[in-house]
Amino acid sequence: MTATLIDGKAVAARLRQRLFEQTAALKDAHGLVPGLATVLVGDDPASEVYVRNKNKMAEALGFYSRSHHLPADAREEDVLTLVRALNADPKIHGILVQMPLPPQIREAAVLDALDPAKDVDALTPANAGLLLSGRAQLVSCTPMGVMLLLKEYVGDIAGQEALVIGRSLLFGKPAAQLLLAANATVTMAHSKSRNLPDLCRRADILVAAIGRPEFVQGDWVRQGAVVIDVGINRVQSNDGSSRLVGDVAFAAAAQRARAITPVPGGVGAMTIVCLMRNTLIAAMLAAGLERPEL
Ligand code: NAP
Repeated sequence: MTATLIDGKAVAARLRQRLFEQTAALKDAHGLVPGLATVLVGDDPASEVYVRNKNKMAEALGFYSRSHHLPADAREEDVLTLVRALNADPKIHGILVQMPLPPQIREAAVLDALDPAKDVDALTPANAGLLLSGRAQLVSCTPMGVMLLLKEYVGDIAGQEALVIGRSLLFGKPAAQLLLAANATVTMAHSKSRNLPDLCRRADILVAAIGRPEFVQGDWVRQGAVVIDVGINRVQSNDGSSRLVGDVAFAAAAQRARAITPVPGGVGAMTIVCLMRNTLIAAMLAAGLERPEL
């Protein structure tokens, strides 16, 4: 392997330390404690783990943390009532509704009910629009994590060709906006794109968020490119055990890339800590304090 490994765990640990210090300083100077509320509907085991980890990290940072768990057959109105109560709760600065929701609850209805100032996942149309307008306050966590990794490992990306594969609201669209705001020349690809290998071969920065194990082949990677693999896919090994792989064929890509994120330990390590970053920012903005440089 010739590529530098982009160590998401290390970058995330440093950000976590800065958040911890900033939280303590905020408490001392202003008596302000950032508050995060998580909302889980149903018993999906993976979602339960995600939510538990979010509450745990919030507590470890010194935040006020609260978890709400509704049954799988909860009505949409129950979720909306809870969200409205959290909107009005002055101790709560960030509200995280764990997706996906059971089919009887419309995600759009929940997002429409959520106060954009507390939307720490940055999924509401208001926050998406602010990002598009260059006035973002809260930015979607995984794309923010990617930008922080690029800042650390690449620095200035102005003028570079960036390709984002995937156009989800959660990742692809906000990631493209952030790369554009950082003056990259951005191309977005998706399932209907023609000649994906050729698009990849042009990219100085190749970002894959597809959800297909090792889909991007090593020889699609331009020599000296930076590869950001957002995918998290569980695959079965021959011996019956399972392991996580990304959307990029890592070993082959690492032969050509200048730098590459591993899976796990790359982008995924940044997401929860960026959620905490958003909660701290939301708390400071709600208190009329200047947005911190984090
Ligand atoms: P998603 O909503 O399913 O979107 C997948 C995107 O990939 C879609 O835009 C789709 O195109 C595109 N796509 C599918 N097949 C393709 C193909 N053959 N060629 C080109 N594009 C193709 O997924 P997501 O939520 O963005 O997540 C993507 C991956 O990132 C998943 O593995 C997920 O687990 C991972 N993820 C990780 C984190 C993290 O914390 N690290 C956070 C979020 C997501 P169309 O729009 O045309 O269908």
